[in-house]
Amino acid sequence: MEKIKCRIRENSWLAKMAARFMRVQSVAMVLGRTIHLHGASRERFLADTAWMRHEACHIKQYQHLGFFGFLWRYLSEYLRRGYYNNTLEVAARASEEDPDILNNIEIV
Ligand SMILES: [Zn+2]
Repeated sequence: MEKIKCRIRENSWLAKMAARFMRVQSVAMVLGRTIHLHGASRERFLADTAWMRHEACHIKQYQHLGFFGFLWRYLSEYLRRGYYNNTLEVAARASEEDPDILNNIEIV
């Protein structure tokens, strides 16, 4: 299976805004195939398997829904259900236990 190539952007201002909005210290936020980090280094992120699996699930959601399809779905779920019960987040949290989710993800 073809691997999905992903990038990591550290010290992302977008992730910084998300962290402020969510009132958390560190955040990872996926836009397309780029994982935007704030308050966490690339090394810390890569050392955290559950965290990587979670974000890998969002990357696959983008692949499935398309870039704007994902953003639209995420926003509408967020407005209806909030963050925790957003079905895209529920699926990503479930993926934290999935050892196969990283199989076709390549972080470059
Ligand atoms: Zn998430």
